[in-house]
Parts: sequence; C-alpha cells; structure tokens
Amino acid sequence: MDFDWSDEDQAFRAEVREFLARELPKDWAELSRDGPGSDEQVAFSLRFCPKLAERGWLTPHWPREIGGLGESAWRYAIFSEEMWAAGEPRGPQYMNVNWIGPTVARFGTDEQAKRYLPPISRGEALWCQGFSEPNAGSDLASLTTRAELRSDEYVINGQKVWTSYCKSAETCFLLVRTSTSLPRHRGLSVLLVPMSTSGIVVREIDTLIGSHYFHEVFFENVRVPTTALLGKENEGWAVAMYALQYERVGLPRYARSQRVLDELATDAARRGRIADTAFADALRSARALCAAARLLYLRVVDQRVRDLPPTADSNLARVAMTMADRAVGDLALELWGPDALVYGSPGDAHFRAALPAGIATGTTEVQLNLVAQRWLGLPRD
Ligand SMILES: Cc1cc2nc3c(=O)[nH]c(=O)nc-3n(C[C@H](O)[C@H](O)[C@H](O)COP(=O)(O)OP(=O)(O)OC[C@H]3O[C@@H](n4cnc5c(N)ncnc54)[C@H](O)[C@@H]3O)c2cc1C
Repeated sequence: MDFDWSDEDQAFRAEVREFLARELPKDWAELSRDGPGSDEQVAFSLRFCPKLAERGWLTPHWPREIGGLGESAWRYAIFSEEMWAAGEPRGPQYMNVNWIGPTVARFGTDEQAKRYLPPISRGEALWCQGFSEPNAGSDLASLTTRAELRSDEYVINGQKVWTSYCKSAETCFLLVRTSTSLPRHRGLSVLLVPMSTSGIVVREIDTLIGSHYFHEVFFENVRVPTTALLGKENEGWAVAMYALQYERVGLPRYARSQRVLDELATDAARRGRIADTAFADALRSARALCAAARLLYLRVVDQRVRDLPPTADSNLARVAMTMADRAVGDLALELWGPDALVYGSPGDAHFRAALPAGIATGTTEVQLNLVAQRWLGLPRD
C-alpha cells in the first residue's frame, strides 16, 4: 500500500504552511496563550477564518451547494493537520466546520441550511454544543433538560455543563428531552437555539485549560419557535450520534503531539538526556504512538472518502490520539518541568492541552467499551 501523499497534496501542504507563516502574527504564542475560548483568540478567529474562506479552505470538503469546494476528505485531513499543529488558529470555529455544519446540512430544512451554513462557510459564525449535564455525560441519554411543545414553540428548562466556548457563541446545538413517555433514547431532540434568547444564563467554570473555556448554561422558560428543531422531534439521538462520529476524529490531535515530540527530541539531545535509556525509550514509544494515531486517523478518512458507513474505527483512532497526547505531555513535563505548563514556552503547554483529551467527546473508557462491542464483538456487559 502506498502511504505517500501525491505531489499535488504536498504542494497544497506547503501552500498552507506558507499561508500560516504569513498570516499568524509574530505574537501568536502570546495571543493564543489562554486557549481557543479566550477573547483574544475568538477575535482572531473572526479575522482569520474569513481569509481561509476566501481561499475555499475553511470548508473545502463540503459539497458546492452548501458553500464548499467538494474536495476529498484527504485534502481536508492535510489542512486539519497543519491547523492543529499550528495551535488551531480557527479557534472555536473548528467545531462548526467539522461537525455542526455537516450535521445541519444532513438533517436541516432548506431554511435552516440557508440561515446557518453560509455564515459557517464564510468563517463568521460561533457555535457551542449543549449536550452534557451534571448527571448526563457518558450516559448522555439520561439527560433531563426538557423542551415542552406548547402550540408553536418549545419551552426549555434545565441545565447544561462543560459547554465549551459558550460565552462568545451565537447559537447552541442543544440536545433536549422532548418526551418523557418514550424510551429514553427515543425522547430526545436537537434544537438550534440563539444564545441571545431570554432566559439563558451562562456561568464560566475556571479551568487549567484556558480562559472562557468551560461553562454552565441554565435555561429557564426559554422559548424558541418549532422551526428551531433540527431533524424530527424525538429522533435527536440519531442527529447527536451523527455529529459525534465527526467530532471524535474531527481533530488530528497527533499533529500537535508530533510537533512537540520533535521539539522534545531536539532539546533532549542538546541537554544530553538522550543518553538516559529510560528517557530515550519513552521518546521512542511516544513516537510510535503518534505514528499509530496518525495511521488510525487516516484509516477513518479513507473510509469517509470511500463513503463507507461509520465504524468503531473512529473510537479507536480517538483512543490512540489520546494515548499519543498523554505520552508526549508526560515527557514534556519530565524534560521541561513547570515550564511545560506555560503556553508560548517550549512545547507550548502540551501537558495542559493533553490533559482533557481522554474526557472530551466521550471518555477513553467509553470509547474502549464501544471498540470492544463493535469491533471485537464482545458482549455489552
Ligand atoms: C475539553 C472538554 C471539552 C468539552 N466540551 C463540551 C461541550 O462543548 N459540550 C458538551 O456538552 N460537553 C462537553 N464536554 C463534556 C464531556 O462530553 C464529558 O465530560 C464527557 O462526556 C464525560 O462525562 P462526565 O464528565 O459527566 O463524566 P462521567 O460520565 O460521570 O464519567 C466519570 C468516569 O466514569 C467512567 N465511566 C462512565 N461510564 C462508564 C462506563 N459505562 N464504562 C466504563 N467507565 C465509565 C468515565 O470513563 C469517567 O472516568 C467537554 C469535556 C472536556 C474535557
């Protein structure tokens, strides 16, 4: 099998790198210090993403009818590797282009597609995803935020938690319970809710990852028209699962781990740490993990290119990316000590960035359960 990129693909990667070298400000490390939800990075994303959109690079993998170039998922994988390795200058907008947009395109009405997709593909939209609740994370179907249909509107009451980038978001991709009499997976729906709607209260949760990252969101008698429903009422589980398939491999996290690992290896050689056999072995196994994560990610891309149905390969790829992230984060802490926690210093705070990798989009244990059932055919219990 040929694992090499074509000449055109390599030329495209070089073009993206040149673009990044030109467009990322000299103080990018300082600017991106507080993570993708920070005021600085959100503002930067709204300047940067329209420039990507002008070149067709923001949504090249989307069909032309909805604002893309209809290019293959391979091109987008190259592009995403470069973005993630550079510290994700798209900021929170990576969520829109990776999974919110495709899910709106798949399940939305014509009106919803016209309203929401063009701003996403122009790089002007900020979204958040309201799935998790205080008592519903891994067991998402136990969520209790309720949306009651009253004539031509839904009235929403409940609470979400860990909602990323929510302070700056204009719209929430919200999973709610619309029926309490149906079996729990069948009583859920997705609503597209403007965050400016009366009755929504957002509170920030302090975190090590960065500023304005996590939030709690409270809904008290929040009224939205029935046109906010994405897909069919009570069939929101399928909509959410469609989005999660994209989310789980949405980011080639190994691209950043690999970049930091290269820095680590160079600096370890300079400091003479390579002579330490245990350290050198750890470097080697981290490199093997990065390579494995990359191959598993590309395998999922290949399945998309060939239009195959989603499989547990995306769960496996996610687990491998988490292992690579953690291995590199641990090495960074060992070599650089507390400096490894500071954005903009060598390794660019990789330890902090890697910490939540095994929790977001489903914990490692839950991903492994899915691999055990769907890939190995083991019984659910
Ligand atoms: C960086 C980051 C960003 C996030 N962004 C968002 C967001 O934008 N929107 C959103 O809705 N949520 C978001 N989340 C929340 C995330 O989806 C949840 O944290 C995750 O689903 C786990 O849920 P929980 O925190 O309730 O943990 P729990 O589900 O309570 O899990 C606690 C522990 O129990 C283990 N466990 C649970 N069930 C099983 C099982 N069946 N088998 C084995 N072990 C099990 C878990 O692995 C974990 O170790 C984000 C989280 C992180 C870390």
